Amino acid sequence: MSGVMSSLDQFATAKLRDLERRALRRTLVPTDRGAFPRVHREGRDLVSFSCNDYLGLSGHPTVKAAAVAAVERYGAGAGASRLVTGDHPLYAELEGALAAAKGAEAACVFGSGYLANIGVLGALAGPDDLIVIDDLAHSCLNAGAQLSNARVHRFAHNDVAAAEALLARHRPEARHAILVTETVFSMDGDRAPLSGLAALCAAHDAWLLTDDAHGFGLAEHDATPVPLRMGTLSKALGSYGGYLCASQPVVDFIKTRARSFIYSTGLPPASVAAARAALDVIASTPGLSALPLERARLFTEGLGLPRAESPIVPLILGAPETALKVSRDLLDAGFLVTAIRPPTVPPGTARLRLTFSAAHSIADVARLVATLKEIPEVAERLACPASS
Ligand SMILES: *Cc1c(COP(=O)(O)O)cnc(C)c1O
Repeated sequence: MSGVMSSLDQFATAKLRDLERRALRRTLVPTDRGAFPRVHREGRDLVSFSCNDYLGLSGHPTVKAAAVAAVERYGAGAGASRLVTGDHPLYAELEGALAAAKGAEAACVFGSGYLANIGVLGALAGPDDLIVIDDLAHSCLNAGAQLSNARVHRFAHNDVAAAEALLARHRPEARHAILVTETVFSMDGDRAPLSGLAALCAAHDAWLLTDDAHGFGLAEHDATPVPLRMGTLSKALGSYGGYLCASQPVVDFIKTRARSFIYSTGLPPASVAAARAALDVIASTPGLSALPLERARLFTEGLGLPRAESPIVPLILGAPETALKVSRDLLDAGFLVTAIRPPTVPPGTARLRLTFSAAHSIADVARLVATLKEIPEVAERLACPASS
């Protein structure tokens, strides 16, 4: 090897240096999350408030046993795309259970939530169509909108009037329109005004797509009729994969046209079986899915923050350096709370994003509250809350 860097390595090195300088470089840290919410990282035992394992099901004995049994019976991998030979029998069971849980006619399981969103939007929309999307919608919803080649307009976060203005202006020239939002926003924990958005869609003949990645089990959401409900198996269900719940014809169409479904290998049997078992655990454990929100409310009460609307609570600190510093202080006190920085969140809103789980004890939450109150940057923020 010569000492001269290739233009490729020069490109990567310069990019990394720039990110480093702006405190925006991200690195992987090996983390052993054996007995959630206890995790082991860098030689330390920590309580994690950064996992999306809302119900603690990734480590549930029934869920793990189902995964093991599926490996024994069907092997480690699906072996092909589902449309070729990868559609092992566990899929139909899971799709039936998901549809039942969501009160939908049918469901389609994808390789991940990300793949579900890019597949569904790409199959349903094209250049003659309109996509109206919340400004804070997840990266993969935006990627799906972009890949579809539809005309995309973003509306101010949770602003029904702004969405209406976009539909009034652009809907007439479009063949079809899709309105895209999340039920619970992943980085802010607030909820979409679903009934208002659904009424808007009805008035303008737009199809409502909701991303329920963080809303699973928050029953209030299930009241509004939504024709396209996507979600993930990777968070509250403790497994891996994504899904769409919709009518039978829509699901049949997606299964024959969504590229991320057709051209990607089916999920491993273990993931499908684990998600299926998790649904059973939820159904047979009354009160389980209410616990994360209860824990989150204990936390917001303890710190005098606005009452939590979901198991996600943001503590906005502003500069990425501040978020990293407070995250390190928490690490020293035995808590894993990852700093979230741009571009995941808008510039100037770097934050700690706390996720609460049924696996957290009341004592875990109380200790976290007490610790945060002692950190100067947090105390300052609590005394003088940011406008968001
Ligand atoms: C995590 C997430 C996804 C992606 O789901 P995966 O199964 O992890 O790929 C999609 N949408 C939102 C809002 C998410 O938070």
